[in-house]
Amino acid sequence: MADDHYTILGIEDDATQDDVKKAYRKLAKNLHPDLNKDDSTGAADRFKKVKEAYEILSNPLKREKYDLELMRSGSASNQSPVPQSVGFVYTGPPLAPQRGSDVKLVMKILFQESFSGVKKGVDVKMPVRCTNCGGSGSAPGTPVSTCPTCRGSGALLQPVQTPQGYINQRIICTTCNGRGILMQQFCQRCSGVGLVNGSDNVILSLPPGVEDGAIIKINGKGGYGLGNGPRGDLLITVNVEELPNMKRVDNDLYIEESISLPKAVFGGKQRVNTLEGRRTLRIPSLTKSRTEFLIESEGFPDPVTGEHGDLYVVVYIDPPEDLTEGAKKALKKYALEMGEDLNDLGL
Ligand SMILES: [Zn+2]
Ligand SMILES: [Zn+2]
Repeated sequence: MADDHYTILGIEDDATQDDVKKAYRKLAKNLHPDLNKDDSTGAADRFKKVKEAYEILSNPLKREKYDLELMRSGSASNQSPVPQSVGFVYTGPPLAPQRGSDVKLVMKILFQESFSGVKKGVDVKMPVRCTNCGGSGSAPGTPVSTCPTCRGSGALLQPVQTPQGYINQRIICTTCNGRGILMQQFCQRCSGVGLVNGSDNVILSLPPGVEDGAIIKINGKGGYGLGNGPRGDLLITVNVEELPNMKRVDNDLYIEESISLPKAVFGGKQRVNTLEGRRTLRIPSLTKSRTEFLIESEGFPDPVTGEHGDLYVVVYIDPPEDLTEGAKKALKKYALEMGEDLNDLGL
């Protein structure tokens, strides 16, 4: 009989995801076709099998399905030791339902939204409960019985010797693969896993002042659990849009505002679009480029305390781009008036 995926990777059937990864890397390194040009040892064939095994065992859903198939065919995973003499029934809480996976998501929001907060519904891809079998994994209408080996708990206790004496180690019941139940027929849609790849619409609510890079955790909104276990969590990393003229430093907001040369010289009023609306700024005469004007408490709210930072409007003077003929004339006249040599200008 062909080796099962665990044997191919040289790992135990209770290997962690980390173990799976490590074993794969080690084997792939030695068997890679680039290193085995002269393929007299059948490395290419083994590499293919190793890859196939890894693809299945590194994916929790595929692995669960594979384990069930393996169990059904009565091969390898059942060879793992549940000594018949030991293995009295474990009576703790059932192992069978497993908590779902945590789902990670990057959410892009507008700069304005990071200021005012935002609430929106998002379709999040995740393992969801199979609607055909209601998550049981058993084909609808077919009988399901309590596993006689573990009496439904999904686990057995096995005494192991330690320097402190014997302790009871909890091991997964291999008769039912930790599910506590035995099915006669697997659900066709999910192949007995009880979960399928799908998506769930989640309402995400980000507080005013939420920062770029912040991670928001929503308990119980992640992947659905195996055996109708509880859902994992949803972890949202916030990604705030960047703007050319606004930036956030801690909770302070900096707005760059262009003012005209006459306004810089004579002073006057400048209407500035802030994140809260329009503010009128008084520009004193002879204002230099890069002068900062402070407007207190109109910066970002702190996402926790709600206290606002400050707003700084940084004014600057750029050469005007679309000058009319008349304006050009006036500017030349201004240069002459100020004693500038017109030959030195790029006219
Ligand atoms: Zn069992
Ligand atoms: Zn199903």
